[in-house]
Amino acid sequence: MAAPVGLTYNGYLNLEMGAQKISMKIMPKKKCPACGATDTIKILYDEPTYESCEAAERGEIALGGCLISEVSPKRYCKACGEDFG
Ligand SMILES: [Zn+2]
Repeated sequence: MAAPVGLTYNGYLNLEMGAQKISMKIMPKKKCPACGATDTIKILYDEPTYESCEAAERGEIALGGCLISEVSPKRYCKACGEDFG
């Protein structure tokens, strides 16, 4: 499949809008320290909203509830279930 015109994925997202060029660094997916999988998702610590529940159902984020502490993990590994970050 061809990439959309003006978009290149070499670690950066390059957008060309007329004369304006925007280059955004894409954060690489974090690796799971337990199993090495890159299939990790962000854990959202907040009051769940309709949007965050939808995203969680799609597997894009994990809901960590609205209680956050200094040691709360930031990412969840979908491969082995490890919390880390
Ligand atoms: Zn893992």
